[in-house]
Amino acid sequence: MIYIGNHLSSSGGFLAMGKAATALGADTFAFFTRNPRGGAAKAIDPADAKALLDYMEEHHFGPLVAHAPYTMNVCAAKPDIRKFSVEMLQDDMERMEYLPGNYYNFHPGSHVGQGEDAAIPMIADAVNRALKPEHHTTVLLETMAGKGSEVGRTFEELKRIIDLVELSDKIGVCLDTCHIWDGGYDISDMDKVLKEFDDVIGLERLKAVHMNDSMNPLAAHKDRHQKIGEGHIGAEILKAVVTHPLLQGKPFILETPNEDEGYKKEIAMIREWMIK
Ligand code: FE
Ligand code: FE
Ligand code: ZN
Repeated sequence: MIYIGNHLSSSGGFLAMGKAATALGADTFAFFTRNPRGGAAKAIDPADAKALLDYMEEHHFGPLVAHAPYTMNVCAAKPDIRKFSVEMLQDDMERMEYLPGNYYNFHPGSHVGQGEDAAIPMIADAVNRALKPEHHTTVLLETMAGKGSEVGRTFEELKRIIDLVELSDKIGVCLDTCHIWDGGYDISDMDKVLKEFDDVIGLERLKAVHMNDSMNPLAAHKDRHQKIGEGHIGAEILKAVVTHPLLQGKPFILETPNEDEGYKKEIAMIREWMIK
């Protein structure tokens, strides 16, 4: 058994997302903590957050996977972008406290020419500044496709960041199937990829999956998501991923190019795969 859901709009508030997830057949979901392209976040209504937590319990939801805005780059070359990004991360950690016990996923960042050796300590430093012992959120580093100067394409890079994070029990990884495929990990042999993940990072760090097909072939270093079964990864491989024994119990988030109807179909199809 896995939990399955997709990205939802947070514009109607927290409880509305819970109900929207149920309507799509989902039992988890992802949402942007603020406008994915912009900065300022709107105020949280604590009663609405509490209503979602109650709703999730009642409907047996798995953990949510909140997503940081795309504009966040904690290892940017420009100090003002870095500062703004770290402040966003700090603020998001405080905001996540309204929904304790869930995940917060972010892109490690792009080093924009500085090189990963410079970027990796910056990323860990940002997490160290934002994460406090009293927080109830696990921060997830997303595996990246390696387009441009993205950090986090390899398990080794992610491990180097994790090793520098002080609150080690609050840091994990979100595995994006499109990204690792584009990044060069051949998930047609998921046993092998997970073995490598375990050897390098440790499987206990793998907390969530972004479930996407890819518009591009293996190792394309592109990052263009496709609908499940309509891309280069294909349904057969993705089926083996969702039903993999080592991935059971985790939230799977669809980030496929779909409207509600498409998500509903994909969720139903994936549930079907789990039965057979
Ligand atoms: Fe992402
Ligand atoms: Fe993703
Ligand atoms: Zn992507």
